[in-house]
Amino acid sequence: MNDAAYACHICTSLEQALPENTVIRTANWCVTGVKDSPGHLMVTAVTHDAGIAGLSPEAAADLGPLIQKLSAGLLASGAFTRTSFIHLGDAAPHTHFMLIGRAPGDLPVVDAKPLGARVVALQDAERARTEIAELRTLLTLG
Ligand SMILES: [Zn+2]
Repeated sequence: MNDAAYACHICTSLEQALPENTVIRTANWCVTGVKDSPGHLMVTAVTHDAGIAGLSPEAAADLGPLIQKLSAGLLASGAFTRTSFIHLGDAAPHTHFMLIGRAPGDLPVVDAKPLGARVVALQDAERARTEIAELRTLLTLG
């Protein structure tokens, strides 16, 4: 949270979030509407972290069920048929995402061409296979 030496714009926005614009605030996450745009929710870690890998085990455990329930709620509104969940702010002091309700015919929320070009530019099959094997081992070892 904010301290006197550092004014974090995300902490400030969480502190100033209007109750009528807040879906839920838990010990780990705050979900608010974005710019009065239906189907656009900001899901923000309430504490500073070093990115997704730096989330507390509790925050990480809460995230999946929270996103599933919010997505189901957006679909239940009847206005959307699916949702997109997008990580934002790679360098922000809070991990945060946008959850977006999607309707048939909506334009893609992300232009995947630059990402595809990045993937191709960084191709290194040996390193990728090693990384995958290491991650597999990490997950197996828990
Ligand atoms: Zn902050």
